Amino acid sequence: MSKVKVNFPRFGSYNVAVRHIIVNGCGVDYVDSPPITKKTLEIGAKNSPDFVCTPFKYQLGGYIEAIEAGANTLIQVGGACRLNYYGEIHEQILKDLGYDVKFVNMANADFAKPLTFYEEFKKITPNLNIKKITSAVLLAVKMVEAIDKVEDYIRENVGFEKEEGSFDKLHRDFLEDLKEINDKKELNLLTKLYMSKFKKLEVDKPKNPLRVGIVGEYYTIMDEYSNHYMEKELAKKGIVIERWMNVSNSIFHNYVKEIKQSIKHYAKYDMGATSMYTINKALDYAKEGFDGIIHVKSFGCTPEIDTMPVLQRISEDYKIPIIYFSFDTQTSDVGINTRIEAFYDMIMMRKEDKVK
Ligand code: SF4
Repeated sequence: MSKVKVNFPRFGSYNVAVRHIIVNGCGVDYVDSPPITKKTLEIGAKNSPDFVCTPFKYQLGGYIEAIEAGANTLIQVGGACRLNYYGEIHEQILKDLGYDVKFVNMANADFAKPLTFYEEFKKITPNLNIKKITSAVLLAVKMVEAIDKVEDYIRENVGFEKEEGSFDKLHRDFLEDLKEINDKKELNLLTKLYMSKFKKLEVDKPKNPLRVGIVGEYYTIMDEYSNHYMEKELAKKGIVIERWMNVSNSIFHNYVKEIKQSIKHYAKYDMGATSMYTINKALDYAKEGFDGIIHVKSFGCTPEIDTMPVLQRISEDYKIPIIYFSFDTQTSDVGINTRIEAFYDMIMMRKEDKVK
């Protein structure tokens, strides 16, 4: 029997935490998908239905590249939209293409019943030790929180770094060292060490910088290749970026009841996926006096399309500019950067007008 080699789709910086679960919790090998490139998207788009949303295509392209890199077991994810069915469709497409791999579909598990995750993990390896997998998952959760804490700090400060690339380099080192973590104590020490290193990086930050909040769809907002490195483009212009949407906030510290209450004047019903979070955070950024809001989504993302009229109302009520970006396989960097440039000029002029 061939050795188990597991792959999980590339997703932000979180694969290091998934790797920990697979290697230390399941005791099997982990195969990272190669970094996402134009080729990944081309492979995914070529083998996907035309009108399916872009995360489907990225994931499919990533699976094929991972299989070619040696993976024989693919983990699939679920979600609060059609993402829940993507696992089955990916599986069918990959089988039709002739790939003989095993599928472990986490859409079959239920957050309200943690044991259902154990049942899914058992499909990776039947000799799964419940104590080992539980402790690996708990540490992975803490790793995700550490990643989010570090990245929040980066978004707030990277736009003002004195030495170009200093934040990026330290971020890469942090993720690399995170791979070696074995327990919570080591994780806390590492996070503390890196936070202090980040705080020591020299920045030249004005007293009242431009602040922009980013809201939108789960995958596109967190995967930098999918959003054409938008946060990096904004940082180059000396903007503080805030993005509430990350795995810690949306999954581990979820507070849906409070959100429903706070957005009740704008949305009565949940429109699915990230829609409530998008509206809630846009409202928060508007109330907190941010200079602008950026909404990102994949082309064809119905829940996020539904939020757009609501965001327009928030924009009118609070006189805050909102720009909308929709990404698909044909989106070009030039188009994105030109629009960011125009948005930046506009929010900068408004800020200067306010100061006069
Ligand atoms: S949230 Fe939108 S883009 Fe993401 S999988 Fe669901 S429908 Fe597609």
